[in-house]
Amino acid sequence: MRNLAAATLLTAAALGLVIGLKLVVTLARSVLHGEALDWSLLLAVHVAPGELLSILLFAGMMTAEMLVVGWHDSSARILLGDTDSGKTDLWCLVIGLTRADQLIVALATFGTFGLVAAALPSLALLPVARDLPFWLAAPLAVVVVSFVGYWSHRLMHTALFWPLHAFHHAADELTFATAFRGHPLDLALEGLLRMLVPALLGFPGEAILFAALCMNAQTLYSHSRMPGLPALEKFVVFGPRAHELHHSVEAHHHDRNFGTLVIWDRLFGTYIESEARPAAIGVEDPERLYRGNALVSMLAVQTSWMRQIGRRLGVGEGSVKLAPSTAKSSLPG
Ligand SMILES: [Zn+2]
Ligand SMILES: [Zn+2]
Repeated sequence: MRNLAAATLLTAAALGLVIGLKLVVTLARSVLHGEALDWSLLLAVHVAPGELLSILLFAGMMTAEMLVVGWHDSSARILLGDTDSGKTDLWCLVIGLTRADQLIVALATFGTFGLVAAALPSLALLPVARDLPFWLAAPLAVVVVSFVGYWSHRLMHTALFWPLHAFHHAADELTFATAFRGHPLDLALEGLLRMLVPALLGFPGEAILFAALCMNAQTLYSHSRMPGLPALEKFVVFGPRAHELHHSVEAHHHDRNFGTLVIWDRLFGTYIESEARPAAIGVEDPERLYRGNALVSMLAVQTSWMRQIGRRLGVGEGSVKLAPSTAKSSLPG
């Protein structure tokens, strides 16, 4: 199975590289010659968890991490090791890169998610940002996308969506690939929300793509095993030390440090200083929903989540078990 995963990963990386390079060329043409950007390509890159351009970032950052922290502490060693968490991270990487998650999303939403995503470019209902030059639109798009990202992440921590988001939080140790570890419905919903607002405001496609790449770079860095940069993590952008607290099992760390830019957590009262490392990271998982084969786990989580919604609506019996305040408790370190 490990050989199959490695072969799939290599194939996906090669395909991703080709499509990623095509996107770079498309983007360059759009910026240099003012050609209209291929929105379908942009949506494919941004909405999906396996953002293809991120492969380039992923490979570069993973190599940099190995050079900085050494093989023993690297994400690569964990991904190729024998821990449950590392195996799930590796498979989520493969599922994300091969776009297998899109099949789950399409089946779960009866194809409607794809229709909504395809309709986004025509949704510029308040096109205040349409005529902005790239140098202004790009940083503004970062601010808007990070703001929406903060609130959509908070949404995923509500009792309704937590069972899906817990799939990401179930990692016992963080690696670069934990950035790809998310339930497909969670990643699709958060990705769609992050795109929706800048699309409504009429931001040019290349500015949204720039913002998406910045967010992806931050997400990869914050799940890495690189050293933290205290001043940066305190005032500008969250890194591995701050995001590790977001994954902590300790109750006083729960529902903190949601964002990419520090400003939103400071402004909305969810910032917590990374004064010390957490005792452990992960979630309580009595039913072992978030363990084992990643694809099987994704489907089991989805079935359980839909049953819980059914119970909320009074369709089934019993009550909802998982909620942000009760789902996390101490795990062995
Ligand atoms: Zn979270
Ligand atoms: Zn995370």
